[in-house]
Amino acid sequence: MGYIEPAPLKDEENPFEAMMSRFHIASQILGLDDEVYNVLKSPAKQVIVSLPITMDDGSIRVFDGYRVVHSNILGPSKGGIRFDPGVNLDEVKALAAWMTWKCAVVDIPYGGAKGGIQCNPREMSAGEIERLTRSYTSSMIEIFGADRDIPAPDMGTGPREMAWLMDEYSRTQGMTINSVVTGKPLVLGGSLGRTEATGRGVMVSALAAMEKLKINPYKSTCAVQGFGNVGSFAALLLAERGVKIVAISDLSGAYYNANGIDIEGAIAYRNNNKGSLEGYAEVEKIDGSAILELEVDVLVPAATEDVINSHNAEKIKAKLIVEGANGPTSAKADTIINDKGIIVAPDILANAGGVTVSYFEWVQNRLGYKWTGERVNRRSDRIMKDAFDNVYKTSQEYNISMRIAAYVVAIDKVAKTYKYRGGY
Ligand code: GLU
Repeated sequence: MGYIEPAPLKDEENPFEAMMSRFHIASQILGLDDEVYNVLKSPAKQVIVSLPITMDDGSIRVFDGYRVVHSNILGPSKGGIRFDPGVNLDEVKALAAWMTWKCAVVDIPYGGAKGGIQCNPREMSAGEIERLTRSYTSSMIEIFGADRDIPAPDMGTGPREMAWLMDEYSRTQGMTINSVVTGKPLVLGGSLGRTEATGRGVMVSALAAMEKLKINPYKSTCAVQGFGNVGSFAALLLAERGVKIVAISDLSGAYYNANGIDIEGAIAYRNNNKGSLEGYAEVEKIDGSAILELEVDVLVPAATEDVINSHNAEKIKAKLIVEGANGPTSAKADTIINDKGIIVAPDILANAGGVTVSYFEWVQNRLGYKWTGERVNRRSDRIMKDAFDNVYKTSQEYNISMRIAAYVVAIDKVAKTYKYRGGY
């Protein structure tokens, strides 16, 4: 079957519509019946809470908090919590569904969920963020649970917030339950390898795709848009395997060096510069959006949604896009990218390394045991490589893009499981 046109989009920037558009195409390819289609398109649970927080100046601000459980068909729902000013229900719904498909693509026994609070953590003190995290946890006490719904970090959150969440949850249960959340600090039952896991999975996916495209890593160039937890580790690990990283970017702008950027140096600079690359001297500063249009072999968008869209897709020159972010390509851009012959290792495949090692963390917590970093990396690399091969094989079999193939693999698995479990 060839490429099927997506359903017309009302709003290109709406991530839920973007997710639905791909879901629709893949469902048609699979010949999904209406009953299952309707079950899988509707989130199982959507919770919105108001969180009144006393700020450091004594004023009280009310924040909107969300948790959407898209599906628990494959197992307890899993997905991160985002602290960002742009958080809204449609975004959280899309991100929750992407978690369902992502867990199914890498074949781990979880459904999908996502949470978020509309806030700007960059402008808040640690105390304010702690009160907000604890208040959110307490409002979601009936949703979260080690066998029910397991949060993790996402944009704007990290091990520190996960520690507060674990502690607040444990207090209400009267005992320590560390398996209720992943991405924790190591001393609280976090897993070795979790911090770099998403970037590592991006690296494994990129190398697997380069092999198919016959691109020699040692002769290749790459641009990484977004230099947070995902982008910086992806850049570092790719550079260690011979790929020349010629451009990186963050909120302060984009930085270019045709001879290759010293990624270790850039990470050290960022860590000592309040998390920003602003002022990094070894490189030429270019326009922030120009990084996506550079003449490189590999482009890794590792920041946020919709950065590749109908306005710039035509100008993309990379041969391969490996999506570190969730939803970095709009559904409208898919068609343009496909027509240009650019290969995409899609988000629900390429960035699944994070949730894979989250799963390992949860398994270790439940065993009361710790794995070595070597074991974590070896197992997650194998899961990522197997998932890549499976999606690639499906794309060849149906003559469809890697993105739609990933949805086909995921939806097929969830639909079959649903049929066995049955409904009312
Ligand atoms: N937030 C990450 C993601 O989007 C990780 C989720 C998790 O580990 O549960 O995949």
